[in-house]
Amino acid sequence: MVSPLSHSPADIDAVIFDYNGVIGLQPTTPMWSGLAELAGWRTEDLTHFQTTFWSAREPYDSGAFDDTDFWTAVLGRRPEPALLTRLRAVDTALWTRTDHRVVALLQQARRADLPMVLLSNAPHPVGDALDASEWRGLMTDALYSARLGMNKPHPDTYRNALAATGVHDPSRVMFIDDRPENCEAAAQLGLQTLHYTGSPADIEKHLDLRAGRLTASSS
Ligand SMILES: [Mg+2]
Repeated sequence: MVSPLSHSPADIDAVIFDYNGVIGLQPTTPMWSGLAELAGWRTEDLTHFQTTFWSAREPYDSGAFDDTDFWTAVLGRRPEPALLTRLRAVDTALWTRTDHRVVALLQQARRADLPMVLLSNAPHPVGDALDASEWRGLMTDALYSARLGMNKPHPDTYRNALAATGVHDPSRVMFIDDRPENCEAAAQLGLQTLHYTGSPADIEKHLDLRAGRLTASSS
């Protein structure tokens, strides 16, 4: 059953995309295990590793922690430079795989001249890697939390992203994120929101990329 849209797709002048969990795929368990092993955790302690990892991630995402600060917090000791380099590379690889189905939609939206801005909670190495990715050129701009100095759902992250779209009216901008709390914060600022749950068809439906947008933009 198709749920009714809360808006007309032709009313959208720009889109703000989250990265991980929308354009980006979540890491697999073997990827997590590889990172945990590199960090000195036993495979059977993966859950404990992930808890420790996430407990230090917020300041790393916001730029308050640098690479050394983050990995010192996770490891419980300061890593040697060679290990830090490997940890940073493997960690970045966890967060830079894309869902080709969503990238195909980005290409459609680009052909329809729909401005698109990335707004991602990401530490500097991940932001740098995403900027170097092939699909990045489809986006009008990309904003990363470590560069902004704050994470979603801080309201100013959305205000920055809205400014980057070039659209003044937030009600004409769609925000797409896999975290409900991020969508709620965006909605409070007047943005339209799509809580993404992994089905690219939901994006296609909300943006009406098959025909409507092209029609709307040329009228
Ligand atoms: Mg996400």
